[in-house]
Amino acid sequence: MSSSLRSLVSLSSIVSGSGGGGGNDNNGVPGEIHVIVGPMFAGKTTALLRRIKSESTDGRNVVMIKSSKDTRYAKDSVVSHDGVKFPCWALPDLSSFEEKFGFDAYAKLDVIGIDEAQFFDDLYDFCCKAAEQDGKTVVVAGLDGDYLRRSFGCVLDVIPLADTVTKLTARCEMCGKRAFFTLRKVGETQTELIGGAEAYMPVCRQHYVNGQAVIGAARTVLETSHSQVQKEIIVVETACVS
Ligand SMILES: [Zn+2]
Repeated sequence: MSSSLRSLVSLSSIVSGSGGGGGNDNNGVPGEIHVIVGPMFAGKTTALLRRIKSESTDGRNVVMIKSSKDTRYAKDSVVSHDGVKFPCWALPDLSSFEEKFGFDAYAKLDVIGIDEAQFFDDLYDFCCKAAEQDGKTVVVAGLDGDYLRRSFGCVLDVIPLADTVTKLTARCEMCGKRAFFTLRKVGETQTELIGGAEAYMPVCRQHYVNGQAVIGAARTVLETSHSQVQKEIIVVETACVS
């Protein structure tokens, strides 16, 4: 047998699973990865909870994980904007989950739901291992973009790994049309400003563009008046010194 043919045969035995690999919790059957993205208020958590609850009703072992950065609601439950609750693990990263959850309990798991996935830096490696080595079904929900419509965290990185990708939409708060983007109403510029309806609103493309222009203009006015106040303070201080 030529060496190239031999390597082809050994590759096909690895791909077909007859190469002595195995050792998975689910007898070598690979899992699945499903990704749910969209702007804020699009119902991502609701869709994730619905999926996890229906898997649980079907008798599968499920668990929900969310980032411990998001403490807007109860710390040990995932709560959708419409108030539906589900118990969950609030963690700073995903790599510590298996150990914290317990190796035996992890081995029995069928489905893992991850909410606010944009906050987990180790999302890609976790999804790969959970689905492809451990045979789990992983359902990931998170923001695809931040308030400037830049890729947020690692959510987009797992799309090439996914069986399915669902982009949900919200309702534009200005006109009621379908909203694809999240507009930040306040002047903070850090990417991870965790907040709800007081800080963000879902908008259509037109109102995103208009809103960014208005916010940009407002910020310029604020910064100008702020530097004016600073100058006045300096003048007062100078006056006090002299
Ligand atoms: Zn609109």
